[in-house]
Amino acid sequence: VLGREYPDETCSISRSLEIVGERWTMLILRDALLGLSAFEEFRESLGIATNVLTARLKLLCGEGLLVRVHDGEASQRSHYLLTEKGREMGPVLFALMKWGDRHYPTQHGAPRLTLHAGCGGEVVQSLHCLACGERVTLEGLDLPLAPAFAHQPAD
Ligand SMILES: [Zn+2]
Repeated sequence: VLGREYPDETCSISRSLEIVGERWTMLILRDALLGLSAFEEFRESLGIATNVLTARLKLLCGEGLLVRVHDGEASQRSHYLLTEKGREMGPVLFALMKWGDRHYPTQHGAPRLTLHAGCGGEVVQSLHCLACGERVTLEGLDLPLAPAFAHQPAD
């Protein structure tokens, strides 16, 4: 149980939320974990205003969750890749997704399946596979759209 006797600035949850407590920030991290990396990919996936996306990417780079990699001297384009610190948000987002699946499913159920890649077993919130019992890493997680969502855009 979290005591309320200490002030918010000494609470690590409060301090983490200073960085990732904003909706767009978490959704950018979600998309990065799903493999998106280009500015335009994030913009199209999120339907986010360009200036807001720019500000959020800058924050995430400044805090070291993403790193901006230029495509080359001839190109103005760059990609945003997760750092180890950013990847560590993966289990947090996975837990949030599983919590949402349980408590706020859509009328068609959970939008994505959570499968152990190569095994096909269901991965539960603790990141264990129900079929083989292994602890699954983010790399070993397969998140295909559920059949009812396979022909609709993901969100
Ligand atoms: Zn498995």
